[in-house]
Amino acid sequence: ALTDKLSRLVKELRGQARITESNVSDMLREVRMALLEADVALPVVRDFIARVKEKALGEEVLGSLQPGQVLVGIVNRELAATMGEGISDINLAAQPPAVILMAGLQGAGKTTTTGKLAKHLIEKRKKKVLTVSGDVYRPAAIEQLKTVTAQAGAEWFPSTSDQKPVDIGLAALDYAKKHFFDVLLVDTAGRLAIDEALMLEIKQLHAALNPVETLFVVDAMQGQDAVNTAKAFKDALPLTGIILTKTDGDSRGGAALSVRQITGAPIKFAGTSEKLDGLEVFDAERHAGRVLGMGDIVALVEQVTSGVNMEAAQKLAAKVKSGAGFDLNDFLAQIQQMKQMGGLSSLMDKLPAAMAAKAGQVDMDKAEKDIKRKEGIIHSMTPLERRKPELIKATRKRRIANGAGVHVQEVNRMLKEFEQMQDMMKKMKGGGMMKMMKRLGG
Ligand code: GDP
Ligand code: MG
Repeated sequence: ALTDKLSRLVKELRGQARITESNVSDMLREVRMALLEADVALPVVRDFIARVKEKALGEEVLGSLQPGQVLVGIVNRELAATMGEGISDINLAAQPPAVILMAGLQGAGKTTTTGKLAKHLIEKRKKKVLTVSGDVYRPAAIEQLKTVTAQAGAEWFPSTSDQKPVDIGLAALDYAKKHFFDVLLVDTAGRLAIDEALMLEIKQLHAALNPVETLFVVDAMQGQDAVNTAKAFKDALPLTGIILTKTDGDSRGGAALSVRQITGAPIKFAGTSEKLDGLEVFDAERHAGRVLGMGDIVALVEQVTSGVNMEAAQKLAAKVKSGAGFDLNDFLAQIQQMKQMGGLSSLMDKLPAAMAAKAGQVDMDKAEKDIKRKEGIIHSMTPLERRKPELIKATRKRRIANGAGVHVQEVNRMLKEFEQMQDMMKKMKGGGMMKMMKRLGG
């Protein structure tokens, strides 16, 4: 796996004081593979790798940092910089009503995002918002906009499928002016693929409405094709921003990098669910980790390989995977490993977001604070009790509490947490953190 290879390379680079042509190329080959696997388009990958190489070569490796770590740092930063930069919120600096034109392929999420933006502009920016649909090819799409507009608490301007999009747009603009709307959101017809007639239509709409924002809505799950789509829209329209939808899916979201590079427009928001509150300001750094598919996983590998008893981690992972009972010995091993890895919260910081969210089902801060006491409690148990926690009733609890110098309630609390962890382990069987631990273990 990528992670294994990277961690090996990181190790090989250890002890070298400088990044050189020869030690960087193997590493970059892996990064290149990771980007391609994330569906970043090939020309974009090439460009990116060239930039990283230029930045990396000759860079001094400071203090305790190793060349591999420095390089991964450069890759991450460059990735974030490529996808980030620029103003993130919607630009409304225009004589009201500020017109916002939504463009993109059919199914990209334009109509849903129009509703999300209406809600955002009303709630966060206190604007009076009007929406209108220029999607005259599918009556259901006009109805869909009406529904999401009502949910967002905005006003919807009616349109029908026998009208021309430009006429609809102008009528809505006129209405918005007369009724003092701050913003007019214009939803448009989607295209399944780039289609000349429809491109012309949206160009005309743009010319007639002179929008202050022309937003390209793109599905994060779109693969290599994102480049062609982005090119076509960029050639047709002066795009001012990108909205990356469906980032809640499992794709690595390489489209973000491609689209940003091709259009030069900033990625302003990310769609995170089908619901109207599923809109977040785009976080380039977090997304960079996701595109690489490993968060800051290389640093994690370093930390893990130096701190953790791999054999124990592997045994635990195998046990959980096989469905065998997760007992207090495993719980103790788990606690101790987390301590060795520099605490739960530092571990959480390094995990890719999705994994961290899963692990976040337990209260990490609290767990970290009580680690020592929990260890003490488990150490006061007999081997039998550790293997069969269900034996631990009132009398045993009192003895254990005395031995560990804590109150009985604390023993209870620990047992409860153990049960929760056991539960989580069952749920994560074959996936999530354990899978990763196993991979790291070999
Ligand atoms: P349009 O054709 O571009 O107007 O796309 P729609 O707004 O109709 O969205 C197409 C589908 O994608 C719908 O089922 C939406 O609910 C869904 N969708 C849009 N944005 C998101 C998102 O951020 N996350 C998820 N999970 N689904 C989304
Ligand atoms: Mg639509």
